[in-house]
Amino acid sequence: MPLLGALVVAGCAHLGSPPAWDTVVLETTSLADPLAWHGGEGLPDRTLVMAGQLVVHADFPLAGQHRLIRDLESLRADVSQTLSLPVSDEPVHLYLFGTPTRYDEFAARRFPGFPVRRAFFVETDTTLSVFAAWQDRIAEDLRHETTHGYLHAVVPTIPLWLDEGIAEYFELPRGAQGVHREHLTHLAGRRAEGTLAIDLARLEPLADPGEMSQDDYAEAWAWVHWLLHSTPARRCLLQDYLTDLRRDGSTAPLAARLTHVEGSPLACAENLRQHLATLAAGADNAPVEP
Ligand SMILES: [Zn+2]
Repeated sequence: MPLLGALVVAGCAHLGSPPAWDTVVLETTSLADPLAWHGGEGLPDRTLVMAGQLVVHADFPLAGQHRLIRDLESLRADVSQTLSLPVSDEPVHLYLFGTPTRYDEFAARRFPGFPVRRAFFVETDTTLSVFAAWQDRIAEDLRHETTHGYLHAVVPTIPLWLDEGIAEYFELPRGAQGVHREHLTHLAGRRAEGTLAIDLARLEPLADPGEMSQDDYAEAWAWVHWLLHSTPARRCLLQDYLTDLRRDGSTAPLAARLTHVEGSPLACAENLRQHLATLAAGADNAPVEP
């Protein structure tokens, strides 16, 4: 088992956050007891809500029919249907802290030395867990981290770049059609200054979350959006890749598959650039919200 003896800890990318926050891999040897948070001191235990695959633990009153919980339940079907993946019954535990202070105290005690962030996802051999503080961006954070949980329940060997690219895609509200305006603006800025580097083969080997920069998160999202929204054939290619990954974690990488279909890495990159330009033009013409 590739994850034996290791914790995979993933966070989320947000503009303005230091890139090193985004994702981190911790070895179990860095923690005294990696499973100690289950039933452990300091964990939210005032409210327990079972919602499909989710087991929500909160340290404040939380209605089972809360809009945010219903949204996360819907997300399970969205991820499954969009990526043509089965759903799993493996529980994904969400630990919700009512205040950032309580969350920070827990994280500092249980994950000492771990970079500060608003939320993060932890996978062990036996558990999938999300930890988050209840604050202004909680909906976005939980959509991102819970997507990691749904994904890892069925594709535990998913490459880091794709894991994050898909989580960035699904962190947006359903009506956004996966168009991540912050990433789009960031990439447009890179394009304007002549520093936009598109290279999937460079992203694919990334295994240390600390290596992923804001540029990498934005590019990972862009590849996922392009694959899902440019042509049905490319959407199928991504779905087939994920299906193959479920069976064989060392299956042929996506860049090689794309090159086989599209002709060359440069052709893929140019196509993605055009896709981003089209999205940016659409975003520019979108009605300005009051
Ligand atoms: Zn993430």
